[in-house]
Amino acid sequence: MGDHVNRAYRLRRRPEGTLADGDLELVEEEVPELGEGQALVRTKLLSLDPTNRIWMSDIRGYMPPVPLDAVMRGLGVGEVIESKRDDMPVGATVSGFTGWQELVLADDSQLEAPLTVLPDPLPAPLPAFLGALGHTGVTAYIGIDLAELKQGETVVISAACGAVGSIAGQIAKQKGAGRVVGIAGGPVKCAHAVEVLGYDACVDHRADDWREQLDAATPAGIDVDFENVGGPIMDHILMRLNIGARVSLCGMIAEYNTYNEGGEHQGGLTNIGQLIMQRATIKGFLVLDWGHRFEEAIGYLAGLLGEGKLHYDETIVDGGIEAAPGALAQLFSGQNMGKLLVQVAD
Ligand code: NDP
Repeated sequence: MGDHVNRAYRLRRRPEGTLADGDLELVEEEVPELGEGQALVRTKLLSLDPTNRIWMSDIRGYMPPVPLDAVMRGLGVGEVIESKRDDMPVGATVSGFTGWQELVLADDSQLEAPLTVLPDPLPAPLPAFLGALGHTGVTAYIGIDLAELKQGETVVISAACGAVGSIAGQIAKQKGAGRVVGIAGGPVKCAHAVEVLGYDACVDHRADDWREQLDAATPAGIDVDFENVGGPIMDHILMRLNIGARVSLCGMIAEYNTYNEGGEHQGGLTNIGQLIMQRATIKGFLVLDWGHRFEEAIGYLAGLLGEGKLHYDETIVDGGIEAAPGALAQLFSGQNMGKLLVQVAD
């Protein structure tokens, strides 16, 4: 055995509804001595993503569910602290599927996907590589691209102040949308959406009259829906689609705690027939399929950032790896502004 003890969250039980105590267990485990081709990474930041909840369920998903008793799957960034790999020297910063753990054995034959070495020096602060210049920024870029936005169109974006939505709104504006309307929870987020993120209007979905707010904010109907939420919000958006509208279906967070076995959701959309009436399309997409365009997307976003045309927010939860399960809940209660991260180590 080596000199290190890892602390990791293992999935002991599949959650029913929201994640509960006992679904995950924090365990301490000795790290074996490094072999050839292995490196040891200390996780610095862990990315909390709505899809973490999907991965915990045994449903028809896009990746296999996390096996019971395995370390919880998760994205993170960390620093190489020991190495027997030429491509991963001590001190290098790496990014990828670190898992919900303090120490990661970087062995390509054991990890779900190899970790990527980030440039040295880093061209932006580290948290950005899990957000605006990472997978959520790229998701926003790809989702807007797939919507084939035309000049002057009205775009609606749900979870408008979140990691993906906040970037998607700004890209839509940059790409010539005539009106970009956000949907977010509460007056603080709505004010932020308009004043800081540049949305033309923001609908507070926690207000009783949110449907009327959305109608008033989209007087010319909706040409593009960048959909992050699903549920009743998406259902009402469907009723406002214009002829030939496009829905970039990015996520349906309103449903993730209610998927039953097999991945079916009880309830569902009732206004789906509007796709026929309006000759509209819904395109589901997964950022994982767009690896070949990551460089292009990050180049574009870094360019906007350099010109002072991109604002991004982060909610960084302190408290080490212990904080991860509690932090995940923030995504469903809407406590996070921008990208949600856990500071696992300094
Ligand atoms: P966010 O940072 O947007 O956090 C989630 C936000 O969703 C919350 O802050 C909350 O905002 C809102 N929300 C949660 N529950 C509800 C609800 N029931 N009704 C309305 N709003 C709700 O997360 P991400 O940016 O990481 O992810 C956004 C979406 O994009 C998710 O659906 C996710 O699964 C998806 N995604 C898809 C990817 C892909 O490749 N297709 C890749 C990455 C993310 P508020 O306070 O405003 O309600």
